[in-house]
Amino acid sequence: MFKWISRGARGFPDITSLGKEEREDLARRFSLRSTERGGRLEDRDGTVKIRVNLRDGAGTEAVLLKDREGRGTACVSTQAGCPVGCVFCKTGSLGFLRNLDAGEMVEQFLHIREIGAERGGEVGHLVFMGMGEPLLNLEELRRAIGIITDPRGLGLSKRRITVSTSGIAGGIRALADQSPPPRLAFSLISAREELRNDLVPSGKTNPLTRIKEALAHYQDKTGQRITLELVLLGGVNTGAEEAAAIRNFARGLDVVVNLIPWNPVEGLGFRGRALREPSPAEVGALARLLERGGLNVTRRFRRGRGVSGACGQLGCVDREGQPR
Ligand code: SF4
Repeated sequence: MFKWISRGARGFPDITSLGKEEREDLARRFSLRSTERGGRLEDRDGTVKIRVNLRDGAGTEAVLLKDREGRGTACVSTQAGCPVGCVFCKTGSLGFLRNLDAGEMVEQFLHIREIGAERGGEVGHLVFMGMGEPLLNLEELRRAIGIITDPRGLGLSKRRITVSTSGIAGGIRALADQSPPPRLAFSLISAREELRNDLVPSGKTNPLTRIKEALAHYQDKTGQRITLELVLLGGVNTGAEEAAAIRNFARGLDVVVNLIPWNPVEGLGFRGRALREPSPAEVGALARLLERGGLNVTRRFRRGRGVSGACGQLGCVDREGQPR
């Protein structure tokens, strides 16, 4: 049963290793899935965003991302809404509804895999980077990873799973003790504490020194390189002072810095001004300063903007799949 469910059976009639009577009996008493695919938006670049309708009427979103080689990655949510409230993020502006359970996370992955299969492509990577802060829903996250990596079911390698956090120090330590742990990405956003606390409100209870200690612990336990994500906001966190602070934060850690130009979301502002995308010159200058300081830097190429499926844009689709 576990194997059939994990590998995508949508209903008991699909489980052909059971007799007809057994299947009918089970179908009368149970349902295999608690979520269903809601509306869907598709971008020209191959990104597909779906609303996932939850049993209690709430909704969340999951995204199929394709890289330039056509490889598929599922971006999965761990909460409906998000309590962290980052000022640059659409999800954060919606407030928090509830944690998702492990089944609701696994089913998002199954929905995205099915969409990938319909389009003739494999979805071999998973990022917990959708709506919500994964480490504020740690037990269900762990259960979901356990189910998805179980060799009797989907058997996805943990090396192909990335958990992205806004910086919950205790959660990073707890995740490090999971064996073997997934890959970790930390949304640094700014290495200047005061600015960061205004951009990422959870920073106030998770100072950068504690987060850095937790990242060092993660690295000690796992030997893994950690990704530092920087959502770049034009004129806010792209200057020389920021570069120096990032270099200082990264000292002693094995990291790659991922620069993510902010994806516009209407109505979001900071310190009385509308947020804006960074110019290519701002992004290039910051990249050069970081590289000169000896850091490995990658730039995320823009995917999914046409369907608001890019980083920080989730939460823009209503029940019928229309943008809102
Ligand atoms: S960026 Fe992530 S942690 Fe911050 S509000 Fe958005 S979903 Fe939550």
